[in-house]
Amino acid sequence: MAEDVLELPLQFLKGVGPRKAADLKKAGLLTVEDLLFRFPIRYEDRSRLQPIVSVKPGQTVAVTGEVLSATLQSTRRAGFRLFTALVQDASGQIQAVWPNQAFLKDVIRPHAQVVLYGKAEYWGGRGMQITDPEFEIIRSEESPDAGVHTGRIVPVYERTGSVTTNMQRKLVWEALEQLPDKLFDPLPPDIRARERWPARPAALRAAHFPEPGTPVEALNAFRTPAQQRMIFEDFFVFQTGLALRRQQNAEVRKALVSAVDDRIRQAARSILPFKLTEGQRQALAEIVADLQKPWPMQRLLQGDVGAGKTIVAVLAALVAMENGFQVAFMAPTEILAEQHLITLTRWLGTSRHRVALLSGKITAAERRTLLPSIERGDIHLVVGTHALVQEQVKFRALGLAIIDEQHRFGVLQRGMLSTKGLHPDVLVMTATPIPRTLALTECGDMEVSVIRDLPPGRTPVRTLVKPDSRREDVYDLVRQQVQEGRQAYVIYPLVEESEKVDLKAATAMAEHLARDVFPDLSVALLHGRMKADEKQTVMRAFASGTLNVLVATTVVEVGVDVPNASVMVIEHAERFGLSQLHQLRGRVGRGRHESVCVLLYQSPWSEEARARLKAMADTNDGFVIAEKDLQIRGPGDFFGTRQHGLPQLRAGDLTRDVELLELAFSEARARVDERTLSDEERQYVLNVWQRQFGLIAVG
Ligand code: ADP
Ligand code: MG
Repeated sequence: MAEDVLELPLQFLKGVGPRKAADLKKAGLLTVEDLLFRFPIRYEDRSRLQPIVSVKPGQTVAVTGEVLSATLQSTRRAGFRLFTALVQDASGQIQAVWPNQAFLKDVIRPHAQVVLYGKAEYWGGRGMQITDPEFEIIRSEESPDAGVHTGRIVPVYERTGSVTTNMQRKLVWEALEQLPDKLFDPLPPDIRARERWPARPAALRAAHFPEPGTPVEALNAFRTPAQQRMIFEDFFVFQTGLALRRQQNAEVRKALVSAVDDRIRQAARSILPFKLTEGQRQALAEIVADLQKPWPMQRLLQGDVGAGKTIVAVLAALVAMENGFQVAFMAPTEILAEQHLITLTRWLGTSRHRVALLSGKITAAERRTLLPSIERGDIHLVVGTHALVQEQVKFRALGLAIIDEQHRFGVLQRGMLSTKGLHPDVLVMTATPIPRTLALTECGDMEVSVIRDLPPGRTPVRTLVKPDSRREDVYDLVRQQVQEGRQAYVIYPLVEESEKVDLKAATAMAEHLARDVFPDLSVALLHGRMKADEKQTVMRAFASGTLNVLVATTVVEVGVDVPNASVMVIEHAERFGLSQLHQLRGRVGRGRHESVCVLLYQSPWSEEARARLKAMADTNDGFVIAEKDLQIRGPGDFFGTRQHGLPQLRAGDLTRDVELLELAFSEARARVDERTLSDEERQYVLNVWQRQFGLIAVG
C-alpha cells in the first residue's frame, strides 16, 4: 500500500547500507517519516549562483565551482594554520580561506565540486577571497551526484552526529521520489481549503525542495503555505490528542458532585476575611461551577504572586466540605504547608471543619492517630506536601485536591491521582505565569482561570539593579527600612552542583551581617537543609516580626507571605532565572508599605543575565516576564531541565508559530467537542501521540 512508504525503514532508500542506517538511527532517523518530518533549518537560493567573476568586495555571495588546489599553510604564529582552497567556475577563480581548521584538508580535496557561502573581500595579491565561508561539497570522486544540491533553492538541515546536511538532502530527495501522490491527511479538508494549504505530499515536497521562484525570505521565516501547513499539522495533531484527553476526562463520572445553596453561600460569607477582587470572584465562580459538574474538574488557576489564590482555593474547599467531602491541600515545601495550615486554621476557625497537617515532621504516634481519622472522615481538610497523594493516605471521600505552586504539572504528572482510582476535582495553582503558548501545549487539556488583578492598596515593588560594589548603599537601605519597622530578606542562590559551597557562603554571609553589618538587629538564616522544626522556628520569628533580617536560600521562593517585609536583596542576581527572580520579588510588596527589590550582581555577567535583570527592572507584570523568559530561554528550558512532558514538536516552534498554535488549539477542540473526527483521524492522532510523545491511553 502506498501509505506505507512513510513507515518504511530508511534502509529501503538507495545508498543506505547497514552502516549508514546505523548512523541515521543514532541521529533519530529510522523511517521515511522521520526523515521527511525533519524539516530544514533554513534554505539557500542556489538557483542563480553568482559567476565568480562578478563577485564584488563586501558582498555576501554563494558561488560554486571546482576545487583546483587545496593547501594547508603554516603561519608565523606558532600552531596557527590556514587551509586554503582555490575554486574555479566557468567565469573565474576565488580563494577560500579557513583559519585553524586543519582537518578540512581531508574534507575539501582537489576536483571536488563545492558551494561556498560567505563574505567576499579583496585581498591584495591573492585577489578575491572569502574567509571562513560556509561550504558544502556537492560532488566529489566518492559521491557523484545529481543536481540535488545546486541550481535550485536548497534546504539546509541541522547536522546530527555524522549525518550531514548534504546526506539528508540527498536522502530526502530519494524519499520524495518514492512518495505517492496521495497520503492520508490528518488535516480536515475544510481547514485546508479555507487556508488554501497544499495537500500533504505536495506540502512535504515544497517544504523540502521549494518550487523555483519561492521567496527565500518567506521560506526562512517559515511562512510559505507548505511550511505553514506542516507546522499547523504538527500542532493540530498534538492539540487533538489533548482535546481527546480532556473529553475522556469529561466522560469519567465522579462519585462526589458538589452542590451550592444559600446555606453554603452564607458559610462562605462568614469566613471571608476581606472583599474579593473581581479576578478572585471570577475565578471562584469558574471553579465552583466545575465542582457542580458530574465529571472531575481539571483546572489551572494562574495568578501572579500575591494575587490572592489561597483564599479562592479555601472557598472552593469550603464548598466541597459543606457537601461532606474531604479536601487535600498540597504545597511544594513543608514550610509552605505549615504556613498554609496557619492561614487555613485561621480562616476556617469559625467553621465546623477540621484541618490537620500531615507532614514529614509529625511523630510516628501522631501519624498513627491521624491516618485513621482521615480514613474515617473526621478530618475534613488535610494540608501537606505534594507527597500527600503519593503516600498511603486513604481518604473516606476525597472530593477536591488542591495543588499549590506547582510548576511541574506536565500532562503526565497529573495522571497520578486518577491512577489511584480517585477522581477528585483537581485545582492546580501557579504563580509562574505560563506564556500562552506553553499553556496551550502543557495544559491544553485543562481549563484555565486567571486572576489578573491584585488586592487593593498594593504599591508596585521598585526594582534596583546594582553592582556588588554598591553593597554599602544597600545595607543603608535595609537599615533605614528596619528603623521604620519593616523587615528584609537577603537571598542567596543555591546551585545544586555545589550546594555545600553555596550553603557555606550563605552561612558566612548571615554571620557577617549579624556580627559586622547589623550588630544591633536580629538576623537569622534559613535554608533547605535545616531540620523542619528549626525552619519553623525561624519562619515564625520572621512572620511575627521578631526577626529583622532573614538571610535565606531560595526556600522562600514560593508562597511565603510576610506582609511587613519590604526589602528583598538578591545576592548574585545574575545567577537566577527570570521566573525565580520574579517569585522572589513577589515576597515583598505584599503589605501597605512601599517595597524595594535590589538585584545585586557580580561581574562578569552574561548577555542573558543582563537581559534578565533589565526585564525585572522594566516590569512587575508576571505575564510580561514569563513571555520575556520564554524569549530569552526558549521553550525547552522554560520549566528548567527537570521539566518533562514538553511535547517534541516536529515542525512547530512555540515562540515563532503562536498564531498557528492558537488556531490549532481552537480547531482541535471544536472538532473533538462536536465529535466530527473520523475513526481514521482519531486513530492517527492516537498513534502519533503514542509514538511521538510516548504517552499512553489518550482516548
Ligand atoms: P498568592 O496568589 O501569591 O498565593 P496569597 O493567597 O498568599 O497570594 O495572598 C497574598 C496576600 O494578599 C495574603 O496576605 C492575603 O491574605 C492577601 N489577600 C488576598 N486577597 C485579598 C483581598 N481580596 N483583599 C485584601 N487582601 C487580600
Ligand atoms: Mg500562594
